[in-house]
Amino acid sequence: MSKKKILKLLIGSNNQGKIKEIRDLLPKNVLIYTPKDFNVESPKEIGRSFLENSLIKAKFFSKKIKMVCLADDSGLEIDVLNGAPGIYSARWGGKKNNFNLAINKVYKELKKIDENWFKKKITAKFICALTIYWPNNFEVNVIGKVEGTISKTKKGNNGFGYDPIFIPKNNRLTFGQMKPSKKYKIDHRMNAFNKIKKFF
Ligand code: IMP
Repeated sequence: MSKKKILKLLIGSNNQGKIKEIRDLLPKNVLIYTPKDFNVESPKEIGRSFLENSLIKAKFFSKKIKMVCLADDSGLEIDVLNGAPGIYSARWGGKKNNFNLAINKVYKELKKIDENWFKKKITAKFICALTIYWPNNFEVNVIGKVEGTISKTKKGNNGFGYDPIFIPKNNRLTFGQMKPSKKYKIDHRMNAFNKIKKFF
């Protein structure tokens, strides 16, 4: 069953921004559904890693709706913060997922461990886990990454989340300053998607 190209797919998310990003990665001939089409709410993300969370979502929606499901889980890991915010990246933005709040928390946490953090190179990476889950319980899990550093100040209005403070390796601009078309080519989601594109 997994050898056949996927022509009908459920995107395992109720987040419109994420649905759009995943839809943009897929070939145009794939017929796409979302849990909202079936009035199904998202499960709790209780995993301890990005992969556990993407699997929880893909399996839950695939079983409930009986369709092949693609789900993702992503976030930012900052090395000197021992990988934080990590799987809590969205939650650092509070109940309303306020990205300014999340970025301020990053700066606060960096200052807590080192007053002079901004004089140093703060390495970080964005991670994206993707899971495809088939109704016959076949599953494929992959991880994509993009490495970079944390900018001393917020820069740029493009993108979302931590984009204004993330400078990918070998670049001078933050993801927030880059054209989305350039970001998509090098980001963690594309890196992960390249590993599963043979299924589409
Ligand atoms: P998820 O819905 O649990 O996967 O939350 C992912 C969170 O990680 C988002 O709310 C953002 O804060 C952050 N994140 C993931 N990917 C990106 C990205 O490409 N740019 C900026 N922030 C991201």
